[in-house]
Amino acid sequence: MRSISIIGAGQAGLQLGIGLLKLGYKVSIYTRQTAQEVLNGFILSSPSMFHSALQNERNLGLNFWDKICPENKTVTYTLSKPTKPEIAINWRGKTSQCYQAIDQRLKFSRWMEEFTRLGGQLIVQTVGTRDLNHIIQHQDLTIVSGGKGEISQLFPIDKTRSSFNKVQRVLCCLYVKNVERITNSQGVRANVIPTIGEYFITPGLTLTGPCEMMLFEGFPGGPFDCWKDILKPDQRLAKACELLNKFVPWEAELCHKVKLTDEKATLQGSYIPIVRKPTFCLSPGKPLLGLGDSILLNDPIGGQGANNANHSATFYLNKIKEHKNQLFNEKWMQETFEDYWKQSAQWATKWTNLMLHPTKSFASLLKAASLQPNVANWLADGFNTPEKILAEIEYKK
Ligand SMILES: Cc1cc2nc3c(=O)[nH]c(=O)nc-3n(C[C@H](O)[C@H](O)[C@H](O)COP(=O)(O)OP(=O)(O)OC[C@H]3O[C@@H](n4cnc5c(N)ncnc54)[C@H](O)[C@@H]3O)c2cc1C
Repeated sequence: MRSISIIGAGQAGLQLGIGLLKLGYKVSIYTRQTAQEVLNGFILSSPSMFHSALQNERNLGLNFWDKICPENKTVTYTLSKPTKPEIAINWRGKTSQCYQAIDQRLKFSRWMEEFTRLGGQLIVQTVGTRDLNHIIQHQDLTIVSGGKGEISQLFPIDKTRSSFNKVQRVLCCLYVKNVERITNSQGVRANVIPTIGEYFITPGLTLTGPCEMMLFEGFPGGPFDCWKDILKPDQRLAKACELLNKFVPWEAELCHKVKLTDEKATLQGSYIPIVRKPTFCLSPGKPLLGLGDSILLNDPIGGQGANNANHSATFYLNKIKEHKNQLFNEKWMQETFEDYWKQSAQWATKWTNLMLHPTKSFASLLKAASLQPNVANWLADGFNTPEKILAEIEYKK
C-alpha cells in the first residue's frame, strides 16, 4: 500500500487526505491542533464556496451541512461615490447554482473526525524542517498544505507569477447575528468604497447556527486599516459599526441590533498575495509538493482561496490515482502543478487581482451590470467560473 503524508489539516489537506483514504492509500495528516482545539478556537476566514467546489466535496461525501447551511443565490454589488457615502452603482445578480459559507472551525474539526474514522492517522504535531526531513524518508509522497504557516515559506516565490511584494488589503472578519434582512438578497453583498476598501457581508453557518460573516478589506494606511490594536471582540464589533455608519450607511442601517455569534468570532490580519514554486527538495531525490495556500496565496477579495484549495486537492487526487505505482518524482510534481495552473489556478489568481485593481474593461462590465440583469447574473457566476469572465475581458481588449 502506498503511503502519503500531508502537513496541514485545512481545506486542502483534509479534503485530499480523505479522498486518498477512499482510494485505499495509507495517509497521515499532521495538524497543529486537535479537532476540539480547532472547534474551540478563533474563526479562520469567511469562506464562500461555489458550486463546482461544493460538488467536489459532495463527491467525497463531505457535505455534512447541505441541509442546514444557508443557500446563497445572489451577489449584490454596490459602488460608493468616491467623495461621499452615497451609492453610485448597484446591481444584484443571481448565481446559476447555490453557494455556501461554512465556518472552518466547524468544517475542519468534523473532517478531522471523518479522516480518523476512515482509518487515517492524524498526528498532532507542528512540523518543522527537521521533522519534515524525517517524514519524507518513510513516505512515497509528502505534501505540504500548511496554508499561511511558516512551513510554506520553504517553497521559493515564483516571481514570474507573483504580482505583489506588499500587502494589498488589511483584513478584519466578524461573525454576527441579528442583521436585518433585505428582500431578494440571499447571498454576499459586496460594497466597494473607492480608495478606502471593501466591505462584504455573507450569510453563512457557524457553531451556533446561521450567521452573517462580515469582512472588511482596507487599503493599508487608510481608515479600514485600524484593527491591529483593537483586541477585544466587542470593541472590534463597535469599530465595525462605526466604519459602516461612516462609509457604508446603507449597510449600517441593517446592523442596529448586531451581536457577535461567539467570543471567538473575530479575526484580523494581513498578508502578501504570493505564488510559489510547487516543489522543494529537502534532501536529494525526496521532493516535497505544495498544495493550496501554501503555494498559491490569493487575497480573499475574490473569494477564491478555499475554492482553489478544494480544486487543487481534487486535481492532485486524480493525478495521484492516474500515476499508479510510479515514482512521485519532481518532474511529475512540476507537471502536475503546471497542468493545474493552466486549467484553474491562473484564472483564480487573475480574477482576484482584477478585484484588487479593476481594469477599465472590468469597471465597464460592473457598470453595465446595473443596467442589464443578464450581465449581473453572468458576473455573479464569475466567482464559480472566473475563466469565463476573464475570457470575455481578454476578448474585448
Ligand atoms: C478573512 C478571510 C476570508 C476568506 N474568504 C474566502 C472566500 O470567501 N472564499 C474562499 O474560497 N476563500 C476565502 N478565504 C481563503 C481560505 O480560507 C483559504 O484559502 C483556505 O482555507 C486555504 O486552504 P489550505 O488548506 O491551503 O490552508 P488552511 O485552510 O489555512 O489550512 C492550513 C492548515 O495547516 C496547518 N499548519 C500550518 N503549518 C503547520 C505545521 N508546520 N505543521 C502542522 N500543521 C500546520 C494550519 O494550522 C492549518 O490548519 C478567506 C480567508 C480569509 C483569511
